[in-house]
Amino acid sequence: MKGAETAKIYLFSIDLEDVRLWMKGGEQYKERVPANTHAYMNWLNRHGFKCTFFTVGEVAEKYPSLIKEIISEGHEIACHTNKHITLDLQTPEEFRTDIEKSLEHFARAGAMEVKGFRAPVFSLTEKTSWAHQVLYDLGFTYSTSVLPAKNPLFGWESFGPEPKRTGSGILEIPMTVGKIGPLNIPYGGGTYFRLLPKLLIKRKLQRHLSTQTPLLGYFHPYDIDTEQERFMHPGINNSMLYNRLMYVNRSSVFNKLDMIIANGFSIHTYQNYIRNFLFL
Ligand SMILES: [Zn+2]
Repeated sequence: MKGAETAKIYLFSIDLEDVRLWMKGGEQYKERVPANTHAYMNWLNRHGFKCTFFTVGEVAEKYPSLIKEIISEGHEIACHTNKHITLDLQTPEEFRTDIEKSLEHFARAGAMEVKGFRAPVFSLTEKTSWAHQVLYDLGFTYSTSVLPAKNPLFGWESFGPEPKRTGSGILEIPMTVGKIGPLNIPYGGGTYFRLLPKLLIKRKLQRHLSTQTPLLGYFHPYDIDTEQERFMHPGINNSMLYNRLMYVNRSSVFNKLDMIIANGFSIHTYQNYIRNFLFL
């Protein structure tokens, strides 16, 4: 399958993380991860789709029965590190130890065959590309950790938009980006997806159809959570503006996702996409 048909594959995925675990005293706030995960699974069920959950190891440790439920519904569990530390803050050895720990938590929760990886905040760049070899050595087959654009945080512009096998043997499937004004942004998920008007996303989808690549999307439990308390999210440098953006338009997400499906896109797990639709 090539061309326009491939472009209608939507690799909608969840980065399954619990931001409370990264804050001192964070567990004083309401537990929301199971309820939000169920909301995503109900939405997927309604449309008859399976997706990949890039799971933080410490979430699998805390919610093993949730992981079992995700697996029993036919979704894929992949790895989003053990403690959600960006790659630039780790040595290859520290990274390896962290991933091994996460695999222990996954196995204990019933996820024995974890093949996929996503770096926190797309922190796999040219500088941290050693991570591909570590992942390969640990038995991973693919990664979706690169933001192929200039970005104030992390980005690897020269990687390009197409999935490709890296020197280590790992297949890297870079995040979808699109031009909005002067910026090239990952509009398919997270804060950008919440911020952008539905009509603008629809226009981006139409433009996407001229590519040879699947559409990638990444969502977090909090992206749809209208019941979460207000607190300063970790990892955003105490920025009031970013924190406001963390809460913006959460109630619009399912409506926009329905629009993508109504435009003929179908959701697959990454493993299913690689097995059945990707020819390199
Ligand atoms: Zn994350």
